[in-house]
Amino acid sequence: MPAKSASPREIQLTSPVTMLFGVGAERAAQLERLDIRTLEDLLLHRPARYEDRRHLLSIAKLQLHEPATVRGTVLAGGVKWFAKHTKSVFELILDDGTARLHCRWWNLPYMERYFAKGDEVIVYGRPLGLKPRTMDHPETEVIDPGEERFIHFNRITPVYPLTEGLPQRWLRGLIWRSLESFGALVVDRWTPKLPEAKDGPAVSPGSSGELALLSMTRAQAVRALHFPENPADAERARDRLALEEWVDLQRQIRERRLRFQSKATALPCGGTNELIRPLLKRLGFRLTEAQTQVLREIRKDMKGVHPMRRLLQGDVGSGKTVVAACAALMALECKFNAALMAPTEILAQQHYQTLRRWLEGFPVNVELHTGSAKTAFSGSRPDALDSKPSLFVGTHALVQDGFEVPDLGLVIIDEQHKFGVAQREEFLRKGHYPHLLVMTATPIPRTLGLTLYGDLDLSTIDQMPPGRGRIRTFVRDASRLPDVVEFVRRTIDQGRQAYVVYPRVEETTGGVKAVVVEMAKWQRNLAPCQCGLLHGRLRPEEKEAVMDAFRSNRVQVLLATSLIEVGVDVPNATLMLIENAEQFGLAQLHQLRGRIGRGGHESYCILMAGKNQPEIRKRLKVLEDTTDGFRIAEADLQLRGPGEMLGQQQSGVPKFKFADFATDLDLIKIARGQSLVLTVK
Ligand code: ADP
Ligand code: MG
Repeated sequence: MPAKSASPREIQLTSPVTMLFGVGAERAAQLERLDIRTLEDLLLHRPARYEDRRHLLSIAKLQLHEPATVRGTVLAGGVKWFAKHTKSVFELILDDGTARLHCRWWNLPYMERYFAKGDEVIVYGRPLGLKPRTMDHPETEVIDPGEERFIHFNRITPVYPLTEGLPQRWLRGLIWRSLESFGALVVDRWTPKLPEAKDGPAVSPGSSGELALLSMTRAQAVRALHFPENPADAERARDRLALEEWVDLQRQIRERRLRFQSKATALPCGGTNELIRPLLKRLGFRLTEAQTQVLREIRKDMKGVHPMRRLLQGDVGSGKTVVAACAALMALECKFNAALMAPTEILAQQHYQTLRRWLEGFPVNVELHTGSAKTAFSGSRPDALDSKPSLFVGTHALVQDGFEVPDLGLVIIDEQHKFGVAQREEFLRKGHYPHLLVMTATPIPRTLGLTLYGDLDLSTIDQMPPGRGRIRTFVRDASRLPDVVEFVRRTIDQGRQAYVVYPRVEETTGGVKAVVVEMAKWQRNLAPCQCGLLHGRLRPEEKEAVMDAFRSNRVQVLLATSLIEVGVDVPNATLMLIENAEQFGLAQLHQLRGRIGRGGHESYCILMAGKNQPEIRKRLKVLEDTTDGFRIAEADLQLRGPGEMLGQQQSGVPKFKFADFATDLDLIKIARGQSLVLTVK
């Protein structure tokens, strides 16, 4: 069908949908609600599902609760009112010659308008009764005799996400016509590099080979997305379009990398060892092989004239802090300043105290800079400092308040997953492209590693310091609480300490407990032991006082929210009880569990599920079975998706139409290969 006001040649992918035949202001507003503004948006509108209308089921063959598509003729329809005319049900009876089907819509009396006796109707739904055969609120389409039947029937039919007032058939027709007229505007955005046949495919994607995928043009993919020949065709189209998105992402990553590798310059911070050597002597432990290796990699980067961009990955308790301290000393030895940013005040305070202790008597300043505590200065420039190089430890406040550090050689971001990609860049704009070391304990599933962190080099601490006690994990349901309380008491009697974690601060709703509410009970049950309370609504000095008391064992049980998830290091604490554990993600629980098992004693983690549902238990059992953070992170990614897993909206996860972090590792690998040969328009 020709366009309304423009010849096909004038229409481009970026043209507004109003230029298409049949799209007026009202339809355009509806499409906009689906984020469809341009022709391209329309062509990439992804079907929510497909219906195989090549073979319709006869009504007589419907099975209870099994979704199915049938077709029948309207015998009768009518609205019944009840409850004093405040409620209604519209019922439609269809017959296909084998049996009758009753379709019902509750409180939608206007539905009656859409059907007339004798209409042929396609129905998709789930029978909730067979005597008589009944479906509530099925999807329906009245078959229009004549025109365009081949679009809607006798094929694998796309079913689109809709918005109020927008009919399925109308949208499907529009997409069909737009593909016919303008499908040719869809062109490939790069010339694929095909894998060489004799080497075999470099990687083997699950459903379709790399070669098949790359040989498909973008135009073919878009067509098959909407009107596939068979189910596999639709899947391949999704893969091809997802690949497109991965290639785009890879390109951005490559650009960011190149910017730092070739253009930006950094201060040379290789160090002299004059501070590191005495630090290593006074630590009281020897660095593990893995820590030493990582420091070697860091030093090699920091010597260079281009800024280091390195991600340090090491499971909870693997000893990243001391690596950070040594990296900072390399910069300080070269008389440049360094900054260490942590996601919470508690963790910043802890790092500050540790580093002050470690660097006591060294010719350097260690300063704290958080929202509530600033040791060096409160203005914008650290004028008050003497000529010694400084290490600034702080929170996000370090990049706010107009804080500026001259001669900033190195920036370290601890628990990077708590910050977004944007925040990491924000810090870099501050200084003169300092070297960057980001650290995370969340083992990064490969899909995320290759993408969100793809512009960073990776170092891994894959070894725990020696002499760590084992952590044993148990999933229990709430009815076992009395036994658990007893176990907490015994642990304290042995001189150890415990954490008890709750999902909420104050409100107890829907069976989810709150830490403030539980406090009195624990204090009573465990007297004369001392319980402490820690959550985000306390003032910073209050938090610090409680942490101090816990560190020095004046408080034996710390009741807390997930605020303690990152970084907190109290080796005498050997028990962690998490109530309503079902409220947390697996990676988060693994982090929480990382607070124990830091000393030589056996440690215990008890996960109590408030709701005793089999699937919750099954999910939590992953933690019972493994302490391998990598496996846990993969499981979490599968279950909850990247945004949730990384725990932040601003985690930098891009919005995709087709790509999926949980399943697309093979596509990402292909995209990495392709991003090298881009000739993007
Ligand atoms: P994370 O990697 O989770 O940040 P930390 O840096 O907090 O771990 O280290 C956990 C604990 O292990 C700390 O008490 C730290 O002092 C200690 N530690 C670090 N490296 C070693 C080592 N090589 N040998 C013994 N203990 C170590
Ligand atoms: Mg840490």
